[in-house]
Amino acid sequence: MVFGRRVDTVVTSYTQDDLPPFTATPEAEIPVLHDRVIHKFNTHTTRLLAYRVKQLRQLYWGIKDAEPLLTSALQLDLGKSAFETYISEVGWCLNDILFMLKNVEKWMRDESAPDQSLTNKLMRPMIRKDPLGAVLIIGTWNFPINLTLGPLIGAIAAGCTAVVKPSEVSTNCSRVMQYIIENSLDPEAYQVVQGGIPETTAALKLKWDKIFYTGNAAVAKIISKAAAEHLTPVTLELGGKNPAIVSKNADTRLAARRLLWAKLFNAGQICISHNYTMVDKEVLPAFIHHLGEALQEFQPKGAKGNADYSRMVSSKQFQRVKAMLDNTRGNILFGGNTDEKELFIEPTVIQVDSPQDSLLVDESFGPLIPILPVENLDEAIRLANEIHATPLALYTFGTKAENARVLSQTRSGGASMNDSLFHASLPTLAFGGVGDSGSGAYRGKASFDTFTHCRSVTTTPGWMEGMLSVRYPPYTDKKLKQMKGMQDLVPDFDREGNAKNGGMVWWVFGLGSKGWSGAGLRWAVLMGVVAVLVRVRMSRL
Ligand code: NAD
Repeated sequence: MVFGRRVDTVVTSYTQDDLPPFTATPEAEIPVLHDRVIHKFNTHTTRLLAYRVKQLRQLYWGIKDAEPLLTSALQLDLGKSAFETYISEVGWCLNDILFMLKNVEKWMRDESAPDQSLTNKLMRPMIRKDPLGAVLIIGTWNFPINLTLGPLIGAIAAGCTAVVKPSEVSTNCSRVMQYIIENSLDPEAYQVVQGGIPETTAALKLKWDKIFYTGNAAVAKIISKAAAEHLTPVTLELGGKNPAIVSKNADTRLAARRLLWAKLFNAGQICISHNYTMVDKEVLPAFIHHLGEALQEFQPKGAKGNADYSRMVSSKQFQRVKAMLDNTRGNILFGGNTDEKELFIEPTVIQVDSPQDSLLVDESFGPLIPILPVENLDEAIRLANEIHATPLALYTFGTKAENARVLSQTRSGGASMNDSLFHASLPTLAFGGVGDSGSGAYRGKASFDTFTHCRSVTTTPGWMEGMLSVRYPPYTDKKLKQMKGMQDLVPDFDREGNAKNGGMVWWVFGLGSKGWSGAGLRWAVLMGVVAVLVRVRMSRL
């Protein structure tokens, strides 16, 4: 079947069988695709607002029309339910596009950058939002659609061209994404490379203007090294050992339900799902009781009989998660069953007694729920910092003050208080890691920013030449004094680093950080006020 450019037809009748099989892109073709998107970028048309908007709109309909295809592809690749597919993949991307369309014009506008100095203001300093250029987006398999098309939405909005390399693990989704991209977007600007390590390696040899990678830390090092050869900037969206903390004052029923839901979702194959839960010993029995109750409520016929429950994506992932379970020294409280033929791993709650347990030393990326009892919040915070100081996410259930303390004494890419996953679901919040859980961020404005260069621009009027001639050699003491008068700001702190006292007087006389022009204005306002007061006083005499 030939897949020409879709004009205005609603393509809902295709099935997986109508799509070409998953085929790795011949390595020799990758430089050709690279050159094509660079060439397109150099035509400057992708910078135009109208172009970006049209591409985003077309992508919207491309995804919308392919919803049945995407639903069946996710079912085939991950056993993902239609419900989860909609909220975390299809609906997610559609809403992201609409959010982007609503804001892109505003975000791409030049921003004026008023300078503190009057002289500098005359140069009209501003920030131009330049697209980075031709970018490479390397996706992964657990949310194959949103983690691949999500960055692409940002790249298009920023005016970049792109080559997209979807995961070779979730091949059905990769086929549908290729179909969507080839049939919805400008083929000169947006291309797909299919394949695994050889194809990605071939793409990494080329010079890109940005590489956006989602996946594990080991591959991130390979990506970073390859990018360094060309001094190409990278965004790395990686994983981590994310803690959940349940304090003695937490609502244990609420905590159990919300945390369990997050582990059932996509069978725990989520980079931000909690890897381990530290529960205050005082509420441990209540928390475990509510976990059991919630499991029964969410999956009354058990996990295997539950059509909404995903499978491990591959036998490699199945074996990895199973090995973690096999090696634990903890006590299995619920679950524990596995079925290799179905790549099924039951949601499993395990009480462990050491941070060195196999379930805590690695990221599980599966439906394992190790619980580590702790004496108090101090111990939980200490262990969270020891186990992984910079995870991708953190969850804390406690009083407002306890949650605030956890937040102020730990680090993580993002955090949800009294919930799980939530912070990552909002397009108004940037999503990304910190330290070894990733660098850079995206979603909403952050997606636009991640593919944008903030280009600082000034325009110096010709008539200022007289004023500016002070900067030219031969340099003299007089010129230096003049320069200082024009440029120098005055500190509002003393040598010990303390703020200078003097309050009003200091502020009014321009000895604050705003420099002489702000002071001049304040001085004039003060004189005006004094004049009015004097007049009022005189009129009363
Ligand atoms: P993966 O092995 O599928 O790798 C992701 C991408 O890297 C794929 O496109 C793959 O082709 C490419 N790749 C793999 N090996 C390569 C190599 N040697 N050279 C070049 N490219 C290579 O991904 P994974 O490791 O199975 O994903 C799981 C990890 O990703 C977990 O740590 C998880 O936390 C993390 N993750 C992070 C996010 C996030 O948004 N921060 C999202 C999903 C997954």
